[in-house]
Amino acid sequence: MNNIVFFGPPGAGKGTQAKIISNFLKVSHLSTGDILRGKLNDKDNLAIELKKIMSSGNLVSDEILNSIVSSRLVKEKNNGFILDGYPRTLNQSEFLNKFLSDNSTSINFIFNIQIDFNILTSRILKRSKEENREDDNIEVIKTRYEEYLNSTQKVSNYYKNQFSTIFHEIDGSLQIEEITEKIKQILK
Ligand code: AMP
Repeated sequence: MNNIVFFGPPGAGKGTQAKIISNFLKVSHLSTGDILRGKLNDKDNLAIELKKIMSSGNLVSDEILNSIVSSRLVKEKNNGFILDGYPRTLNQSEFLNKFLSDNSTSINFIFNIQIDFNILTSRILKRSKEENREDDNIEVIKTRYEEYLNSTQKVSNYYKNQFSTIFHEIDGSLQIEEITEKIKQILK
């Protein structure tokens, strides 16, 4: 079974690699950012609330994320999955651990893509032109990076300490193909 989690700051290339690897392994790619952006099209009260939070670069509530992810994982747990953008808080990681143990499954590989702030800023600004994302501007990037340092890095450090044998650091400054190759070598 391939159950994989990608960590890394916004702009590190998690989404790109998660997509390539999900095609390679034929498992679902669950990007919580993409799922939430999809919900913005609903134009209901939740969409208005989500738009406010996401366009400012802050994190959406654990309650919403845990509910979205568990309903998707129920469908994917027998086929394998790649989590991209979740868990991002300690509450989410506790929820995920409980969900996995209740369903007699676990994470097999964790990839932590690391990259320095200057490189990720220029990448995100380039992406903003290509994808027209409202949260890809310099002020919001700073907020998203702070959320990463304050919340998500604690989560990746927790996994690094608790699950060191399946935790792999990846250099995000390499070319896309080189990163994919490194990940595939580890998956072998
Ligand atoms: P991403 O595409 O992963 O950078 O996510 C875009 C935005 O969606 C983030 O800046 C958050 O506002 C929200 N988001 C995505 N995943 C999560 C999560 N696991 N917890 C809280 N908010 C999230």
